[in-house]
Formats: sequence, structure tokens, C-alpha cells
Amino acid sequence: MSSLPSQSNDEIFSKVSVGISSCLLGERVRFDGGHKNNAYIVKTLGEFFEFKQFCPEVAIGLGIPRETIRLVLRGDETRCVGTKNPELDVTEKLLDIGEAQSHWLAELSGYIFKKDSPSCGMERVKVYRGEMPERKGVGLYASVVKKNFPHLPVEEEGRLGDAHLRENFVKRVYIYDRWRLLENSNAKAKGYVEFHAQHKLIYMSHSQSKTRELGQLVAKISDATVESFKKDYIALVTNILAKPATRKNHVNVLQHIQGYLKRELDKDDKKELNETIEQYRLGLLPLIVPITILKHHFRKCPSEYIENSYYMQPHPSELMLRNVL
Ligand code: SF4
Repeated sequence: MSSLPSQSNDEIFSKVSVGISSCLLGERVRFDGGHKNNAYIVKTLGEFFEFKQFCPEVAIGLGIPRETIRLVLRGDETRCVGTKNPELDVTEKLLDIGEAQSHWLAELSGYIFKKDSPSCGMERVKVYRGEMPERKGVGLYASVVKKNFPHLPVEEEGRLGDAHLRENFVKRVYIYDRWRLLENSNAKAKGYVEFHAQHKLIYMSHSQSKTRELGQLVAKISDATVESFKKDYIALVTNILAKPATRKNHVNVLQHIQGYLKRELDKDDKKELNETIEQYRLGLLPLIVPITILKHHFRKCPSEYIENSYYMQPHPSELMLRNVL
């Protein structure tokens, strides 16, 4: 977990605890004794995430190698049974093993699941009625994790190949990590007001109207209402961040930030910044370019609000997540 909730544009990020399906780390735990090593996850994200791996099928004693299992519909109920031997029913075992992991799952700030798995798949897992599958299921272990930790950022390795989903997941992991740090510090209302100020520009890049709703929640917080505030706030933040930020909203945020420099920049600097934001709006430049120019100006003309905001540095620069947005 990050050690400090405060921010500067050149923050050093500490390693964050993230759960993961063991096979994605190259562990030979699959039904056929193989693995699904994912080089990006292991080599790149592994520099910044401290992975806590878990294989639910091995944990319930299915062994390696093992018969494959799949989700089937029996009436309205989804069961997880052997592909060849439908008498092998591991539904309860997979659900129970998920429930039994809460002690370490509660310490995580994110989870990466293996896609398509009847145990680990996060969404669109095949569910069979007869021999006809429909992609509408959730792996049983993953379903318990999602139910018990509804605000935990979760993603599948396949979706991490998409630049927007990847950036959004990593950003959510760091935000959730700071949120847990704040909650665990028994912070008073003031701490939550500061948290909101640090993240408001990020929320705005996702939804201006929902950010206004959040602002109304924050305006009413007092030390006496912190507990109920926390539930409402994190639920709305989860909702806001569920979909990646849009280019249009980023442009609004960049222009909003630019407003903090209106007295500081000369004519040429203003023109360059305007042109850069416009080129980003048109898709001719990636987001990192206007952000780099803004950072440069704020180094010379600091603003406390912008310096404390995570918008310009939501995750480690080395991940280069905004170079392709
Ligand atoms: S997808 Fe999940 S259950 Fe299957 S091998 Fe990987 S970790 Fe184990």
C-alpha cells in the first residue's frame, strides 16, 4: 500500500498488493499442467504490483492435471461440473473457497483474473445449456470475490491489452489503495475532504455530472457522519471509474487546469498550450503531451491545488500508460 496520501507530481509509488490467478504468473496449475504466463503482467506490472497469487481449482483439491470443468445451467441455477463427468460438481467447493479467502483479499487494492475460466473468469464466461454455450457467466470464485469486495478494482488479462482499459485499471488500483490507506487510518471528515480534492480532477475526466454529485456528498460530511459518507462515496467513485475517461472530458479538465496558469503564462506559452490541447482533442497527440507541458509550467509557477491533485500523475510514469491515450 502507498505510504503517504499526499501527492507531488514526481511521486515515488510504492508497491501495491494485487491478487492474481496463479496461471498468469507462469505457475503450472492449469488442468493440463500448463500455464498462461502473461509477460506484460509479470515483467511490467510486476515492477509496481506485489502479486498475491491464488488458484481456486488447485485449492479445492482438483489436482494437476485434472478433468476440465465448465458452467452449466440447471433450471435457473448455474452449476460448475466436469466436462466429461457431470457427476463431478464443484459448485459449493468453489464458492466456499472464495468465502474462505476474505482475510487476505481484504488487504488487496486490485485483482487480475484469468479470462474465460469457470472459476476465475470475471465476465462473459461460457455457460452451457445442453451443448449450446452462451457467454454470460462469471467464474464462481471470481463471483464471490466481486460480491464480497464490490469496490475492489478487478480486470482480466485479455482486457489489459486495451490501452484505455489498462490505464483505467491501474489508475483505479492506485486510487483504491489510497482509499484503503485513508480508511485504515481512522481519518476524520477533514481527511476525506482532502482525498476528494486530490482526486476530483480525475473524477471530472470520467463524468462531470457525477463529480458534482460527489461534491454534494462531500459538502455534507461531518465527523459524525463519516461512516455513512464512506459507503456512499466509495460506491459513487466505483461507479464513476467503471468506464475509462473520455477524450472530451480530458480536454475539459486540461482547460480547467490551464485556468490556474492564466496570469502566469506569456502569450507564446498560452498559444503553445492551447494548440497542444487542441491537437490532443483532435487525436493528433497523446494525453501525455499536454500533461507534460502543464507539469513544466507548474514546476515554475506552483499551485497547491494542482500539486496535491493526482490527475497529472495517477500512476508511475514508467508504465507509460498515457503515452497511447
Ligand atoms: S484460471 Fe484460475 S483456476 Fe484456472 S488454472 Fe488459472 S488460477 Fe487456476
